[in-house]
Amino acid sequence: SLSDRLGGVFDRLRGRGALTEADVRTAMREVRVALLEADVALPVARKFVDDVTEKAIGQDVLRSVTPGQQVVKIVNDELIAMLGPDTAELEINVSPPAVIMLVGLQGSGKTTTTAKLAKRLSGTERKKVMMASLDVNRPAAQEQLAVLGQQAEVATLPIVQGQQPVDIARRALQSAKLQGHDVLLLDTAGRLHVDQALMDEMKAVADIAKPAEILLVVDSLTGQDAVNVATSFSEQVPLTGVILTRMDGDARGGAALSMRSVTGKPIKFAGMGEKLDALEAFHPKRVAGRILGMGDVVSLVEKAAATIEQEDAERMASRLAKGKFDMNDLRAQLQQMRRMGGIGGIAGMMPGLKKAQAAMASGAVDERLLLRMDAMITSMTPTEREKPALLNAKRKIRVAKGSGTTVQDVNRLLKMHQEMQTAMKKIKKMGGIKGMMAMLG
Ligand code: GDP
Ligand code: MG
Repeated sequence: SLSDRLGGVFDRLRGRGALTEADVRTAMREVRVALLEADVALPVARKFVDDVTEKAIGQDVLRSVTPGQQVVKIVNDELIAMLGPDTAELEINVSPPAVIMLVGLQGSGKTTTTAKLAKRLSGTERKKVMMASLDVNRPAAQEQLAVLGQQAEVATLPIVQGQQPVDIARRALQSAKLQGHDVLLLDTAGRLHVDQALMDEMKAVADIAKPAEILLVVDSLTGQDAVNVATSFSEQVPLTGVILTRMDGDARGGAALSMRSVTGKPIKFAGMGEKLDALEAFHPKRVAGRILGMGDVVSLVEKAAATIEQEDAERMASRLAKGKFDMNDLRAQLQQMRRMGGIGGIAGMMPGLKKAQAAMASGAVDERLLLRMDAMITSMTPTEREKPALLNAKRKIRVAKGSGTTVQDVNRLLKMHQEMQTAMKKIKKMGGIKGMMAMLG
C-alpha cells in the first residue's frame, strides 16, 4: 500500500540532515507508484511528480522535521492544492431558468445525480426545480428520472415518445419558463465509451439550452480511462465542473486528481451512495488522504496532539500496543472524538473508516448518533463490552431494547467497532500513536 511505501521512504530518509535532490527523487519514485496504485492516470501522476519534485528540491528543510517528513508534507500539501478548491458552489445566479446540464459516460451516475441535485436545490435552497431526461437511447431512461422525481418531490418534464434530445431540451426550456422554474436540470444520455455521436449530441443540446453549469459526472472507480473521458468531454463541451460519484465505495480517489488535472475545473460534489441525499461537498483534504492511502494522518496527528491529554494518549497507546480495542475503548474514543470536533471529521481521517464516515457525514446526526452509541454500549454487559463477538442475535435484541435502538443500529455499532479495530491495528503497525506523532511532527 501507499502508506507502506511512504513508511519505507520515511525510514530511508529519517535522520538525515538535508533534503537533497537524491532524497527527493528516491521519495518521488515511491510517490509515483503510490499515485498509480490509487488509480491516478499515468500522465497525470507523472506531471504531478515532476511539479512536486521541482518544488521540493528548491526548499529548505525545516529544522524541526526530517527530510522524509518534509517530502511527505510537500506531497500532501500539493495534492490538496491540486484537488481544491475546498467548496465549489453551483453558479446559477442567472436569469431563470438556470440550466444545469449533466454529461458523462453511461452508468457514471448522471440520472441519480440529477435527482440528488434537484432534491438539494429544491430542499435546502428552496428553488423551484424541474428535471428533464434527454436520454432517448436507453429504454425507460426517461421513466427512471420520473420515478426519482417523485421520490425527490421535484417536477419532471412530461414524457413525449419519439422526440430527439434537442427537441426535448427545447420543450423543457419552454415549459420551465412558462411555469416559472428557477432551475432546469438536464439529464443526458451516455455511452459506454466516448464517441463522436455523443459529443455532437451534447454540443447541440448545450447550444440550445445555454447551461449555466455543465457538469461532468464521473465514476470515481474510473482508472486509467479517466484521462480520455475528461479530455474528450472538456475539449468538446464547455464544462464548468465535475461531480465524482461512488465515493462511498472503495475507490482510491485517483480519478479526482486526473479530473482536476485534465479539465482544470473544480470538483463540485461527491456522490456518497445511491440515496437521493447522498451528495456532499467535495473535500480535497480527505481525498488527498485517501490517495495517499493513510487517511488524513497528518491532521489527525495535529488534532490529536492538540486535544488529547498526554495521559489519555499514553493509556490508549499501551492498550494498542497489546493489540486491544474493545467496546470500552470505543466508548473512550467516542468521547475524545466529541472533544475533537465531531465524529464525521475524525472518521474521515482514519484509514479504513470510509463507510462509518459516510454514515456519520451529515453533521446533524453526529450528536444524536454519539448518544445512541453510548446508550448501546451501556446496555451491554461488562463481558460483552470486552468481547463484542459474544453479541449473538438474542443479545443484540436485548441491547437494542435496553438502549431504545434497533438491532440494525447495534449491527452498525459493531461494524464500526470492527472497522476501528482494524484501523487501530494499522496504527499499531506504524509504531502506535506516539510513533506516529514522532514520525509526523
Ligand atoms: P447514468 O447511466 O449515468 O444515468 O447512471 P445512473 O444514475 O443510472 O446510475 C447508475 C447506478 O449507479 C445506479 O444503480 C445508481 O444507484 C448508482 N449510483 C449513482 N451514484 C452513486 C453513488 O454516488 N454511490 C453509489 N454507491 N452508487 C451510485
Ligand atoms: Mg441515465
